Amino acid sequence: MKPRIGVSACLLGEAVRYDGTAKPNQWILKVLSGRAELVPLCPEVGAGLGVPRPPVHLVQVGNDIRALGVEDPALDVTVPLRSWSMEMSPVLSTLDAVILKSRSPSCGVGSAPLHTPGGEPLGMTSGLFARYLSESFPGLLVLDDQLLEEGGRERLCRSLGIRDS
Ligand code: SF4
Repeated sequence: MKPRIGVSACLLGEAVRYDGTAKPNQWILKVLSGRAELVPLCPEVGAGLGVPRPPVHLVQVGNDIRALGVEDPALDVTVPLRSWSMEMSPVLSTLDAVILKSRSPSCGVGSAPLHTPGGEPLGMTSGLFARYLSESFPGLLVLDDQLLEEGGRERLCRSLGIRDS
């Protein structure tokens, strides 16, 4: 049985980013696709935000981190993103690992920029979906494409018992 790996749909070449583009990852498409069953995941499309859609970023609001519009801070998509993550739990519980898109306010794994309500940078954190995965499935290996390039590829393949080239 091949391992099941959830993958950000934009890394699989699907044009689902906020601006209607994709970010295909050649290693995932050319190597990993032959060794694992890849399950496309796009939190923002799944949450009904559409393509194209207004860009959002992460903002620290009190004790909470929320996904707010970059151009229109009144746009708050936090609840639909969290609801979609919870609805997907039955599927997520079947996965052996997840690879997400770096820097995304939904998918980045420690690589999503965080801001103050006034727009000042506050450092990096995880996107809302990546955070949900690590909190709800603590044993699940969750990487983003940036981490893949920093030793994550070898770690993933070793943990799943597959070759990486
Ligand atoms: S980074 Fe995540 S939310 Fe954004 S387009 Fe890719 S899969 Fe969808």
